[in-house]
Amino acid sequence: MIPEWFEVGFAAVLGLIFGSFATAFAYRVPRRESLGGRSKCPNCDTTIRAADNVPVISYLLLRGKCRNCGQVISPRYPLIELTSGALFALAAWKFGPTLTGITYASFFWILLVLTVIDLEFKLLPNRIVFPALYAGWALLVADALLDTGFAMGDPAALREAALGAVVFGGFLFLVAFIYPAGMGMGDVKLALVLGSFLGYLGGIGLAVTGMFLSFLFGGFLGALIAVARGGGRKTQIPFGPWLALGTVTAVLFGEGLLDWYLELF
Ligand SMILES: [Zn+2]
Repeated sequence: MIPEWFEVGFAAVLGLIFGSFATAFAYRVPRRESLGGRSKCPNCDTTIRAADNVPVISYLLLRGKCRNCGQVISPRYPLIELTSGALFALAAWKFGPTLTGITYASFFWILLVLTVIDLEFKLLPNRIVFPALYAGWALLVADALLDTGFAMGDPAALREAALGAVVFGGFLFLVAFIYPAGMGMGDVKLALVLGSFLGYLGGIGLAVTGMFLSFLFGGFLGALIAVARGGGRKTQIPFGPWLALGTVTAVLFGEGLLDWYLELF
């Protein structure tokens, strides 16, 4: 038996490594740069040595500066790596060392990439969202058919996943139709992915919970951030990151939250 703390710790280390891929991916895809090749300093173009590319640790050892030119490295790099590590650890804690765990860790990872891109460019590229939908469904189908998967071989979970996609995507489509300034078609397409992954775990109930949390976070925290930054439309955060945050929260804690909420009445 492998102890649980070891599984979670191993997933965290894996998450840190995939976190540096997330950084490179989120930087290169919107700029249409090739995904191959080593990382370079965006300032002096020097290829970064492998020893200087260790997640988080290198950033601390180099005190946040390029070894060659001394250019300050944005703290967003170690932050993305740490977030990725935490997300992988949470997926391992929730689902264990199963295909379900791998599926949801990958899902969290792609949401992290999309969050970074949406914050910088205010868009969710089709070149990421569509492959995420297809690859996501391939993983969910495989997991549903496995006896060791979350659905324990019952394909009914896939119908729930499809219903989740229709509900989440359909509701955001309505919002985008009524209020196009606040919601884009990129958000609607992403909602199809989110609804699938939520529906697979908990049907329409969990998809609605994820939706509710996204709007709660986006409305409440979004307003706080806008006030802290001095208000105005330019300080607004795009909706993609809130969708990601609401969905990850629902995947990890949605069942408990839903029970608690229903007990209030
Ligand atoms: Zn440099």
